[in-house]
Amino acid sequence: ARRLLEIRDLHVEFRTRDGVAKAVNGVSYSVDAGETLAVLGESGSGKSVTAQAVMGIVDSPPGYVTGGEVRFRGRDLLTMGAEERRRLRGAKIAMIFQDALSSLNPVLSVGAQLAELFRVHDRMSRADSRAKAVELMERVRIPAAKERVGDYPHQFSGGMRQRIMIAMALALEPDLIIADEPTTALDVTVQAQVMDLLAELQREYNMGLVLITHDLGVVADVADRIAVMYAGRVVETAPVRELYKRPAHPYTRGLLDSVPRLDRKGRQLYAIKGLPPSLTAVPAGCPFHPRCPRAQDICRTDRPPPAAVAPGRTSACHFWKETLDANR
Ligand code: SF4
Ligand code: MG
Repeated sequence: ARRLLEIRDLHVEFRTRDGVAKAVNGVSYSVDAGETLAVLGESGSGKSVTAQAVMGIVDSPPGYVTGGEVRFRGRDLLTMGAEERRRLRGAKIAMIFQDALSSLNPVLSVGAQLAELFRVHDRMSRADSRAKAVELMERVRIPAAKERVGDYPHQFSGGMRQRIMIAMALALEPDLIIADEPTTALDVTVQAQVMDLLAELQREYNMGLVLITHDLGVVADVADRIAVMYAGRVVETAPVRELYKRPAHPYTRGLLDSVPRLDRKGRQLYAIKGLPPSLTAVPAGCPFHPRCPRAQDICRTDRPPPAAVAPGRTSACHFWKETLDANR
């Protein structure tokens, strides 16, 4: 089967002193083998928490998975035994975080950290695992890998550290990589290089890739499909090109209009009015209605279900047809 990951109606709550924050409120999306899905959203939209639920790292207070399914190759990660789940997560699903410096061990050389993976998982000898570490560092194009294999994380630049994170994720040749804002902390030019590398390795290894980002510009060239999240929900899913050309949700429309584009030089940039809601007080009906230029009475009372716009396209908007037809 080509379907790698299928998230269905996932719910995650954080029980805080200020009340219950519904961080993930009925999220569904899927990723096929060899496919790159971008998950786009502002901070607090639930994109990272959804990924953390897949990785099994919201299992403890104050975060709780309260409903839904997370199927990996058809098997529900949320109901399988802890031991099996840990094995899958180690070898088949890997995650890359934004901040390499706090994800890497500061007192171990990067070579030792890479070699450790092979020693533990593949029971490789010390010499073999060291050689494998160098090979992997070359793979992610760290210059002079042989000489630098004994260096510590702080001796590398931010971009190089992020390459090391990618190498760690790739080490066991996973089927799926989840990358949460992998380039956000980097300079713009370095961002592009790291993103290109990730895209290239994704193709080479034919992995599934979930690319979590708040930056529409970052994913345009590398993603096959996009899931747009807002207030703990997926509001639109579509193939990248179609979404850019003709968004079917007013929130997506607003995001696109607020990104500078070469073909629209001289046009005034648009900003979506207002702020995303607090997750302890998500508005009734459509959560976007207080900010939506298209909102009607029904939007304040009825939650829009995801409508099938086209094969592989959904929009959770009562007025998706009108939105689709209005080409600004
Ligand atoms: Fe706007 Fe209504 Fe659509 Fe929500 S359902 S995005 S408020 S038009
Ligand atoms: Mg985040």
